[in-house]
Amino acid sequence: MKLQSSGERMLNYLRLSVTDRCNLRCRYCIPAEGIQPLPRADLLSFEEILRAVELLSALGVTKVRITGGEPLVRKEVTRLVAGLKRIPGLREVVMTTNGQLLEKFAQPLRDAGLDRLNLSLDTLNPDRYQQVTGGGNLSRFWRGVRAAEAAGFSNLKFNCVVMQGFNDDELGDLALLARDQPWQIRFIEYMPMAGQAESWAARYLPSGKIEAEALRQAVASSGSDLLAARWTPAGFSGTARIVKPAGFRGSIGFISPLGAHFCHSCNRLRLSSDGRLHACLLEEGSVDLRALLRDGADDAAIRSRMREAAALKPERHGVAGLDGPGAAQPMSRVGG
Ligand code: SAM
Repeated sequence: MKLQSSGERMLNYLRLSVTDRCNLRCRYCIPAEGIQPLPRADLLSFEEILRAVELLSALGVTKVRITGGEPLVRKEVTRLVAGLKRIPGLREVVMTTNGQLLEKFAQPLRDAGLDRLNLSLDTLNPDRYQQVTGGGNLSRFWRGVRAAEAAGFSNLKFNCVVMQGFNDDELGDLALLARDQPWQIRFIEYMPMAGQAESWAARYLPSGKIEAEALRQAVASSGSDLLAARWTPAGFSGTARIVKPAGFRGSIGFISPLGAHFCHSCNRLRLSSDGRLHACLLEEGSVDLRALLRDGADDAAIRSRMREAAALKPERHGVAGLDGPGAAQPMSRVGG
């Protein structure tokens, strides 16, 4: 039997956090007081992860996104990629990374069979990049992008968290990256995760405003009025509204977890680095798989707990808007 939650949603996409540690300190992600990293013994081993994913794959999961924290700081992560690629039934193994270590890892990741990469990029300005990431280096990021392309990763996707008064004056220039490159530039609404350093209420912009502003700025930057006429929707990917202006090599995505939530089509589960299976990023309920994996539980017992986790998926998350409650936990804990 496949993993299903209320509303007949099939849960076939796993976001797998392999570490809660990160080499950056993004202000919208990491709580102001920092995070106390989990003791290493609490992290699932690769063998434990592979067993859990194999069981999830038998329950219908076909796609795994490796994330974190920063997945490339987990030692030997390429060995995990290779192991995941051997699981029958998994059609896609992909990764989200901040790109700071990609120059070194792009080719080994490709050799291990990784299918695709998403990269976080919130600004094109080196000083802002350093500021928002708490020390990141934008040149190193672009070297990572070039290494990824040289290794054969095409169709790169870039995630940009939009923050009013911080990077909302760069939306046009970011969008125009997709004119010249076969990339998807994805603008994400800023989510109120627990304890983040940046004030959410002052920085949040809804997706509709983000799109209007991206178009206005792209027209101004490119000097082409025609762009507005060509700004036609190209579909909905399940989470993102996609726009592919004629003449662009790539596309632009607008992800709206708050302004126009996509809970009704959400097919995601999340396995945290310490082995908790969550059915929703923004709500608290989860099931502890680590204890079962370590206590010698048989496959049937673990599968049954996985179904319990799937059943915890709410019809929709309760993080409603400016007046609503924030998310129950920091992103770095659940995995982005
Ligand atoms: N370290 C990797 C990276 O930076 O891409 C992977 C983990 S990171 C938590 C995954 C994604 O979560 C990033 O694309 C980031 O932009 C997004 N994210 C983190 N906090 C967010 C927030 N408060 N609102 C919206 N997106 C957020």
